[in-house]
Amino acid sequence: MYLRRIPKLIQSYYSGYLWRVKTKEKIAYLTFDDGPTPEITDWVLNLLKQYEAKATFFLVGENVKQYPDIVHRVIDCGHFLGSHTQTHLNGWKTETKVYLKDFLQSCQTINEYSGFQTAHFRPPYGKITRAQARSILPTHEIVMMDVISGDFDLNMKGKDCFKYVKKHVRKGSIILFHDSIKAWPRLEIALPKTLEYLSEQGYRFETLPVNREVKQKLELPIA
Ligand SMILES: [Zn+2]
Repeated sequence: MYLRRIPKLIQSYYSGYLWRVKTKEKIAYLTFDDGPTPEITDWVLNLLKQYEAKATFFLVGENVKQYPDIVHRVIDCGHFLGSHTQTHLNGWKTETKVYLKDFLQSCQTINEYSGFQTAHFRPPYGKITRAQARSILPTHEIVMMDVISGDFDLNMKGKDCFKYVKKHVRKGSIILFHDSIKAWPRLEIALPKTLEYLSEQGYRFETLPVNREVKQKLELPIA
């Protein structure tokens, strides 16, 4: 079982990470993990365009290598790219050195294939050790989320994913979706409803803010 809305206590324990953006304005931050994925990512791009919505895509490096054209379209639409590691590693099960190498590789892959310099990192499964985070934080914001749509959950229905988002969203929320094959049956239902509902409520959708200067040359202090 996972928590839909991350309790304040957990958020403050991991306070070095970005859970939600502090703002008094009606802004929502849509994020999409695990892509790029043929057809699905393009479907997301078209839908976002209809709402003049910007978002942040946390890409898996290996997928970037396979589908660079999709990555270019994501950038052309004005969205941001973040790293989601090269091979979708679980930080809790991976040695720090290996994890950091994989992370660095993903940033380099994204940069090589798209020219984009990532400023954001989202650990797969939300699992990262303090040692791993310590090395990444100087160059990248570690982005978690405060609203989990649950689109990856095979036991959920798309309309229920939307209901969760609707119930928990607030100003500055970072909302987690996946542009993946696994999430598609739910994403297809939940994302259009989310965009429609939040637009009606007066929300706009932006790329994640860049809160730190990204070092042009990525050099990680590997302990
Ligand atoms: Zn993931």
